[in-house]
Amino acid sequence: MVKLSFIKKGLFMIIGIDDTDSRSGMCTTYLCTVLVDELKSYGEVSTPVLVRLNPCIPFKTRGNGAVAFEILINRGLEREVKEIVKARVSELSELRAEGTNPGVVFIDDNALKTRKNNNRTQIIADNRDLKYKKVGESYTLYTASGETLKRFYETAVREVLAIEDAYAIISELHLDYFGLKNKRGLIGALAAVSFLLLHTKKSYDYTYELIVYRRKERWGTLRFIEDASVWAADEATYPLVWDTVDVANKKLVLVPHSPCPVLFGIRGDSVDAIYKAYGLIQAEPEERKMLFITNQGTDCHLMNSEKLWDYHSYILDGVVDYNPRSIEGGHVLFSLSVQGGGNESVDCIAYEPTKGFRAIIRELRIGDEVTVYGSLKEGTLNLEKIELRKLNLVVERTPRCNICGRNMKSAGRSQGYRCKRCGTFSAEKDKMIVERAIEPGLYEVPPVARRHISKPLVRMRMGDKIIHPSR
Ligand code: ATP
Repeated sequence: MVKLSFIKKGLFMIIGIDDTDSRSGMCTTYLCTVLVDELKSYGEVSTPVLVRLNPCIPFKTRGNGAVAFEILINRGLEREVKEIVKARVSELSELRAEGTNPGVVFIDDNALKTRKNNNRTQIIADNRDLKYKKVGESYTLYTASGETLKRFYETAVREVLAIEDAYAIISELHLDYFGLKNKRGLIGALAAVSFLLLHTKKSYDYTYELIVYRRKERWGTLRFIEDASVWAADEATYPLVWDTVDVANKKLVLVPHSPCPVLFGIRGDSVDAIYKAYGLIQAEPEERKMLFITNQGTDCHLMNSEKLWDYHSYILDGVVDYNPRSIEGGHVLFSLSVQGGGNESVDCIAYEPTKGFRAIIRELRIGDEVTVYGSLKEGTLNLEKIELRKLNLVVERTPRCNICGRNMKSAGRSQGYRCKRCGTFSAEKDKMIVERAIEPGLYEVPPVARRHISKPLVRMRMGDKIIHPSR
């Protein structure tokens, strides 16, 4: 929930930003942090949000992230604030990179007024309960619905949108916006603004990330972080803080490997625990830091669906209909007959970077009932998690002759088996009960291979499922 101190005759403005970085530099969260710090002298700024959108989008630089924050300012300052935002986005964006197409969306009281005066527009009908609620000395902006923005955010997380989809909402809601080059960032900017308005615990699950930034003169150089201090921070704060280290693979996972301004990010469910971990980590001097409310670690990209499309992510129930096999590159593949999908078969893959997770996948057998979690790309489901719901303990094999002990031969299609030597006959295959090396429950890829948006199993420990977290 976004808390704002009440300023008489104040005006709130929500600003969403996306697509400012490239693989060779910058980070939209850094630009957001610079702006939040700068705009503090204009009014009270909320904790910003960092949303991760559809992880399969080909235009993404890394984690398909977009940001938004809210500022409560005195009326009359809105133009100045907007000019500062536009200037920083223009200065700091990696505009020379081909795929960088910045977009900024503004929502303010004026936009809401337009909506109030105009009943035909959807947001005011849907957002009738948008109001300030007094909480102690501060006021909380909340909205319980807002179907238009909710639908847009959920579509941006789960499906593939066109820039025209963002323009349609911007025009429907009479929003102010700014963009550079082809302005594709408007999609992410609008989705981030929507999440900020809707991210109460009731609407959406959310987590936090504290991102610490490097001093400019160090950008592009090797990061200095004392390994032992990170392991100690993890030890002191796990599981409230997660995905800081990968225990099985003995790796730190809080540090990016790109030349971007981020030094490290600490993720978790508790702000106190995150700051405790931060206090224990020894690293090079920082330039600044910012806490973000995020949809990371929530699985909000996954959907149940009967129809399967590429670039979408699913939770699918099914039965293993082809034993796993290893393919070139160390990847492990099996085939799943999807329940409720006309028994369509889908290849599911655990890629080499998923490391120890592949050992679980290799243990699957035909007839196992499983639920798979992952994204569909070129018809193959890229596994993020798997639940082994019911293991097949019965293995069928060609019957053996009880006189000579040799394997019988098929007597023809649906005509049973016969031992040619002894003349013995069996109508069916032998059924054997086997022991399995794996147990039912949920398994996950390790932190080194986890997407920002995927929910770590440790966040599911209060549920009713048996979980086998990767540590
Ligand atoms: P970083 O994580 O380092 O900030 P990134 O991975 O977020 O980088 P962007 O530079 O933001 O990558 O590029 C993603 C682009 O894809 C943006 O222009 C965004 O508006 C757009 N986009 C996001 N979600 C969707 C979607 N569901 N459909 C179509 N376009 C999308």
